[in-house]
Amino acid sequence: MRSENGGTPRRNRPAGGPTARLGLLGLACALLLSACGTPAGPKSGSTRVTRPADEQGAACMISLSYSGSAFNRLKDTDSGNACGIGSAVSLVAVQASLSKPAPMDCGLAIRYARFDEQVIQPLAMELFGRPVSVVHHYGSYNCRGRTSDKSRLSEHSYGKALDLGVFELQGGDTISVTKHWKGAGAKSEFLQRVARSACDYFSVVLSPNSDKDHYDHIHVDIGPWKKCGT
Ligand SMILES: [Zn+2]
Repeated sequence: MRSENGGTPRRNRPAGGPTARLGLLGLACALLLSACGTPAGPKSGSTRVTRPADEQGAACMISLSYSGSAFNRLKDTDSGNACGIGSAVSLVAVQASLSKPAPMDCGLAIRYARFDEQVIQPLAMELFGRPVSVVHHYGSYNCRGRTSDKSRLSEHSYGKALDLGVFELQGGDTISVTKHWKGAGAKSEFLQRVARSACDYFSVVLSPNSDKDHYDHIHVDIGPWKKCGT
């Protein structure tokens, strides 16, 4: 089983460009600001997740910095049961950049950084011989109801969900969930394997195989319920 605790510094950290410095800035901010937040409360669903608690606050910020990710610290907005982010960061890049900064809980950022390093990049190298340089996401923090049940808040409402839409390879070729999920080519294989592997890293994974609302992206979250919709 994966451990969510600690983590060793990666050797292949990005060169000291602007994004790398953002990560160090985030670390510095983390050490100055109180960041402990209240985890989102359980909601009705399928199987409850049993796994180590996510790192929170300054400890999470330090682990995220050591992962080589680029991020900015945001002001925590967790207000209990309503929308908000407990340990808030704006994630700019892991090994692959995000198409736009993504506000999210630090626990999700850590999980996604490991998923990128251990799954997305090795798969891209295996199938295409080059890494993914940019991931186009369709949303992270967003105070709203679930697409399947508007009366219940989505994990997006706590900054604990991320929607992955398009993977851009180094050199510019793209792998799109909308265009390439179905089929028998390498791009379809990449997406299907990314989604299946995501179930080992995240609580809930939803794909075009889940429902029509996810025809164009793979939803991953770190909420308290387990579902592998791939
Ligand atoms: Zn989503």
